[in-house]
Amino acid sequence: MSDLAEFRTSLDGELFSPDCPGYEAVRRPANVAYQDARPRLVVLCRSVSDVVRAVRYARATGDRIAPRGGGHCFAGRSTTDGIVLDLSGLDRVGVSDDRVVTIGAGARLGPVYAALRAHGLTLPAGCGPTVGIAGLTLGGGIGLLGREYGLTCDRLIGAQVVLADGRIVDCDKVREPDLFWALRGAGGGQFGVVTSLRFDPIPEPVTTRVEAHWPDIPAGELVSAWQAWAPDAPDELTVNLTLESAPGAPARATLFGAATLKAGPTRKLLGEFTGLSGAVPALELRAGVPYHQLKHTFADLDAPNPPGRAARLRSEFFARAMSHRTLASLLSQLDTPGAMGRRRLTLTAMGGAYNRVTADATAFAHRGERFLLEHIADPADPWVDRSWATAHADGSGHVYPNFPDPRLDDWPAAYHAGNYPRLAAVKNAYDPHRFFDFPQAI
Ligand SMILES: Cc1cc2nc3c(=O)[nH]c(=O)nc-3n(C[C@H](O)[C@H](O)[C@H](O)COP(=O)(O)OP(=O)(O)OC[C@H]3O[C@@H](n4cnc5c(N)ncnc54)[C@H](O)[C@@H]3O)c2cc1C
Repeated sequence: MSDLAEFRTSLDGELFSPDCPGYEAVRRPANVAYQDARPRLVVLCRSVSDVVRAVRYARATGDRIAPRGGGHCFAGRSTTDGIVLDLSGLDRVGVSDDRVVTIGAGARLGPVYAALRAHGLTLPAGCGPTVGIAGLTLGGGIGLLGREYGLTCDRLIGAQVVLADGRIVDCDKVREPDLFWALRGAGGGQFGVVTSLRFDPIPEPVTTRVEAHWPDIPAGELVSAWQAWAPDAPDELTVNLTLESAPGAPARATLFGAATLKAGPTRKLLGEFTGLSGAVPALELRAGVPYHQLKHTFADLDAPNPPGRAARLRSEFFARAMSHRTLASLLSQLDTPGAMGRRRLTLTAMGGAYNRVTADATAFAHRGERFLLEHIADPADPWVDRSWATAHADGSGHVYPNFPDPRLDDWPAAYHAGNYPRLAAVKNAYDPHRFFDFPQAI
């Protein structure tokens, strides 16, 4: 089918071309850096059949196709000048009697947490309430419960996928096992359009929320203490660190995270860290916070970019601590005059359950890392590249597929390490003509 009118009438959902009212609203992805893109068509899918029809139509016309969940991709991969498949109409969250959670690929994290909490359940996943469950899971899924329960994709037990030839397949450990392996952590948009995901959930924990500020500690000592301690803390406690500078203001350090412990043991564990760092912070602990509420309280603090503002992010994993020399250079650059706005370094603790899965068990290859470092600033601020290059001296060379970075030299090794050959074979088996394609696609 290549006739547009025929395609339009075949859909359960809606089709928007540039001359349609409503096009302006639906064409834009959430990431403001890519809001100028003007797709030829946006298909608001309301059924799996709509996805199949759109894939077949795009094959017939030769259009590029970009599946869109939450629309947050840092490399703009959920938009195109061809056809955007907006999956937000496929957002049902269901829980079966045997406690399998099935989530439509267009659902966002906020509504997912809300729906699961009604069943006393949750998933170890990220904080941003508008982030798509599909994009997050397909690239891994790091969050405040991850050191205890693993990546979001580690809880994935199956998925329904529309392939490049329009076939609908169900994959899990038994059916299409290679496809199922590849969906767990290689990054979105590579092998097909996922229409729903099936998860093994966890009981929703009650947490103790942690936030601490150090107004006047030398940041070098703080980061040294954090990188020696946080990745080895008990799994029940995850604390991340941000250092943020703004023009004319000294860098501000914030420790934030959560424990699935009561306040007393949490405070005691944090005492180990504050003892190491040598200064007493303003420490705020809030006990008895159900996980879904905790997520809301961190939506801004944990967000890689401020809502509604364009930002550029580069990142890398670290399998060992940064040296004093690297750290000193990194921190002096954070504070240099001439900044074009806020600059932020975020250190996310890995270790724990993330690393108890072997690197080849799923497509997510980064199972021996201690932490993830993000450099975030205004897109015009050259600091991001300088800061990244400085830290890269001690980095593992590995990059989180959900933080795609167009400037990487050897992206197959950075995103996929030793899993790349198997991923390339899966790509060849399921999408031999590269219907799903973008820069840095497998
Ligand atoms: C505010 C904010 C907070 C974040 N917090 C976290 C966090 O706590 N933890 C974490 O790990 N990451 C976090 N991230 C990063 C996030 O995981 C990635 O940006 C993720 O790719 C976003 O998915 P999306 O569905 O929102 O984006 P999209 O741009 O819609 O999708 C991302 C990629 O997946 C593809 N894709 C989407 N849906 C499908 C589908 N159904 N089938 C096939 N391919 C698909 C897209 O084509 C694109 O290539 C955050 C990002 C933001 C902006």
